[in-house]
Amino acid sequence: MPHELPKSYEPGAIETRWAEYWIKEKIFSAPTPPPGETRPVFAMLLPPPNVTGRLHMGHMLNQTQMDIIARWHRMRGFITLWLPGTDHAGIATQMMVERQLAKEGKKRRDLGREKFIERVWEWKKLYGGAILDQMKRLGASVDWDRQYFTMDENLSHAVREVFVRLYEQGLIYRGKYIVNWCPRCETAISDLEVKHEDVAGKLWEIRYPVVGSAEFITVATTRPETMLGDTAVAVNAKDERYSHLRGKKVLLPLMNREIPVILDELAQPEFGTGAVKVTPAHDANDFAAGKRHNLAQINVMDDHARMNENAGPYAGLDRYEARKRVLEDLQSQGFLVAERDHALALGKCDRCGTVVEPRLSEQWFIKIQPLADRAKQAVERGGITIAPDNYRQIYLNWMNNIYDWCISRQLWWGHRIPAWTCGDCDDVMVARVAPLKCSKCGGARLEQVSDVLDTWFSSGLLPFTTLGWPEKTRDLEVFYPNTLLITGFDILFFWLARMIMFGCHFMDGHQQDAAIKQASGWADKKDDSVPFRKVYIHALVRDADRQKMSKTKGNVIDPLEIIERFGTDATRFTLAAMAAPGTDIAFSESRTEGYRAFANKIWNAARFMFMNVDRIGFMWGQSPSAVQPGHSPGSAPGVPGFQTVTLEDRWILSRFNRVTAEVNDALETYRFHEAANRIYDFFWGEFCDWYLELIKPRLNFEEGADTAQARMACGNLVNLFDASLRLLHPVMPFITEEIWQAIYESKPPFKSIALAPFPQADKNQFNLEAETDMAILQDLIVNIRNVRAELKVEPKVKVPVEIFAPEPEIRAMIKQNRGAVERLASVDKIMFVDDSLAKQAGARSTARFDLHVIYERKIDVAAECERLNKELEKMEKEFANNQRQLGNEQFLAKAPEKVVEGLRKRAQELVGLIAKAKSQRDELHCQSLTTNH
Ligand SMILES: [Zn+2]
Ligand SMILES: [Zn+2]
Repeated sequence: MPHELPKSYEPGAIETRWAEYWIKEKIFSAPTPPPGETRPVFAMLLPPPNVTGRLHMGHMLNQTQMDIIARWHRMRGFITLWLPGTDHAGIATQMMVERQLAKEGKKRRDLGREKFIERVWEWKKLYGGAILDQMKRLGASVDWDRQYFTMDENLSHAVREVFVRLYEQGLIYRGKYIVNWCPRCETAISDLEVKHEDVAGKLWEIRYPVVGSAEFITVATTRPETMLGDTAVAVNAKDERYSHLRGKKVLLPLMNREIPVILDELAQPEFGTGAVKVTPAHDANDFAAGKRHNLAQINVMDDHARMNENAGPYAGLDRYEARKRVLEDLQSQGFLVAERDHALALGKCDRCGTVVEPRLSEQWFIKIQPLADRAKQAVERGGITIAPDNYRQIYLNWMNNIYDWCISRQLWWGHRIPAWTCGDCDDVMVARVAPLKCSKCGGARLEQVSDVLDTWFSSGLLPFTTLGWPEKTRDLEVFYPNTLLITGFDILFFWLARMIMFGCHFMDGHQQDAAIKQASGWADKKDDSVPFRKVYIHALVRDADRQKMSKTKGNVIDPLEIIERFGTDATRFTLAAMAAPGTDIAFSESRTEGYRAFANKIWNAARFMFMNVDRIGFMWGQSPSAVQPGHSPGSAPGVPGFQTVTLEDRWILSRFNRVTAEVNDALETYRFHEAANRIYDFFWGEFCDWYLELIKPRLNFEEGADTAQARMACGNLVNLFDASLRLLHPVMPFITEEIWQAIYESKPPFKSIALAPFPQADKNQFNLEAETDMAILQDLIVNIRNVRAELKVEPKVKVPVEIFAPEPEIRAMIKQNRGAVERLASVDKIMFVDDSLAKQAGARSTARFDLHVIYERKIDVAAECERLNKELEKMEKEFANNQRQLGNEQFLAKAPEKVVEGLRKRAQELVGLIAKAKSQRDELHCQSLTTNH
């Protein structure tokens, strides 16, 4: 039966078909292994994309790397679990639905909480799967049967359990605190969700009259409207300018409220006037100073950043309108001293871009220090390794300067805080299930706190909650700790650090199944409470000019569009081949186009192979197959069934094993670029360009002749192709599956190449002698080709060559392989000579041999000389011009750098071209037309 492979390689159709097949056949499902399992385990969590998300290049890079690592482990016999899911993404999702409502002219409050949340679920059902569908198209080898959503009932249950336990342990508290408040989203947001933008702002100086004196104290502010909530003015105890004002009061302008002058470090003598206003309800530093001096906290704004009743005559105004009015009034009443330009970093909401207002509010916090200490130790003591190494220090620095984590958000979409307030006595109760009556006064008027938890609260728990915690499950025994986490730097603190804190805390004392731990190579690790043993942080994908991609710059590259044009395999290969650890990727389409050509090359090589297989009648029963049916997955050393007969066989087998060793080595340390480039060079350069060419005569047998040799060569070809496909599979999963399945027609030894064994190096097959000999042959052939090109020998014309090779073994080796040289370099006769040939025209010399291509060009010498002379004249004129410009200081000073650089480059080219033309002229014994050459 002929092997069917369409004439041209069309990635689109192939990729969709196999992506569906893998899911339908559950190729990547990882059922829970029963007790007694002795195979190694590899477990990894997909950083959950937001349900609102659309696949971008960052996901594409992240998922390509994870998929390569997952497939590589699976093929090496690891029980491989790659767990996918999506995040409910509190603010982002709520905003989506709010926008949808806005189109209907409604607000979320018009619907009420319950109806609004119903709408969000409806939205999720309709649109929340988009990003997962895109992942399916990528062929990500995740276990779809275990897919989770952070708001699923079991995960929500675990979230409540965690909250209650932390509360009971005294690690969650409630308090008034200065938070970053987004007036648009109407919620507190964490420091990490505030992005700072440098803007040209103003600094206003205001003077406050000292009570009972004619003096003033001058303070400066960038937010004058907050002065309405001032409750003190601070000066430094060491500042002698103010020593006579100790214990005095000042009159707060506009509000006519007397406020004290306090001594506090908040005021720095060398900074400004040395005096500062203190507004505890609207600034974090002032808040701390207020606590030290027991000052009142006067909140002057509401949730929308409008001035409230505490702002006196400004109540009801928007904050910016209030600012204008406050400044006008200060000016007209003589309190405004100066207005200066002042650069400041304005904090904006990362979600919606609204200017954040530091504001006092009641929030829930996690006391972070005890958790952070433990999470720090886990990394310091090597329980978790972080690569590249510099991120380890960044992580530790952050852990050393960590603040309590504000976990409450004033949203509707998310995990609602399991706390209830008593309507009778105001007591707050935290409980796993809704209490029926107040534990303090027995009242029954209980209402659940309306806040929800920060989205990162639930995602920080995923390494254990997705495996069944708080139950003690077999999944936890087997898959916890996860083996590896691959993520981007941007969520190092949001997510990674929190997973480590929660994991170490809640899984304290956990022990992984001993046999599996041993088999997986973790026997020396003592700490099994960590969420994962290894972390790899990947770089950013930038545009081809190394610019960060951004919507405003309009340089965002859509991975789906690239996939549409070049195929997933080529896109994945591009990202892998450019992903050197710690280096950002400058994504260029031309590279992807190149890897599309690589796929095409493999495709054509496969077609060549199948053509021969069908013609020669190679059958599995007649030749040792690469992977015999029934072979268990795991490691396969070398190329099973490969028989070495000739130099090219010994050489390619040695090369295959060396490349295999290098690829395995590179993947072990996330050098994806090295793995990809080694395979590329091998598959294209050595296998397709050399080996296939070298074995062609063995495959071509005469009608009726003995086919044994052809069959053996064909068997080698198939077995080597099979092994090479398996080596390439983790990087290019689709084309390798297509060709591999075609090799086995409808009877593959495994359901998918993804389950076939990954090649391992067989060091016994390393053959330095064969590699050295082949290098000499290649050198010889390439040099002959180069000389032919220079002499402009027609491709069809065969030429005789002379070779001087002083070492007898090399002479013998070339003689033995003269057929290959003759065929691949279009040579009709090889003559060995006893003297060096280096001085001859049309010669080349290398360390091992000299060669001379004998070729008399039948050309009109006179005409050729004339052409050469004309060309020389033109080039020398251009060169003189070029040198004049480059010698002109004035010109150099004015000309753009690109132009100057271009001229220099051209000068170099011209020197080379002129020398070449002159030597050609000498060879032809031309007469110079001009005398000065
Ligand atoms: Zn916002
Ligand atoms: Zn009560």
